[in-house]
Amino acid sequence: MSRRKDRERFLQLKQQNPGYLGFRGNAPAAVAAPVPELTSMLCTVCQRKRNVPVESVSGAGEDFVCIRCQDDPGQDHPAPGEQNP
Ligand SMILES: [Zn+2]
Repeated sequence: MSRRKDRERFLQLKQQNPGYLGFRGNAPAAVAAPVPELTSMLCTVCQRKRNVPVESVSGAGEDFVCIRCQDDPGQDHPAPGEQNP
């Protein structure tokens, strides 16, 4: 009787579903995250203006390097492995 098996499976899924919906229901709806105060800094590497949180540049002075350039410092240079001898 495969039909009964299907019903059992359906009931199992149905049992699992309310918990899933409950989890989603418990999730915080629209919590307003605190927006960090932004300031525009000129990156000394790529010479682009970047909006960065004020906190992250406090005390950095004029030597600002944006996250992009910090992440990929060698973007203007060939990677060592790609150079032919
Ligand atoms: Zn940059």
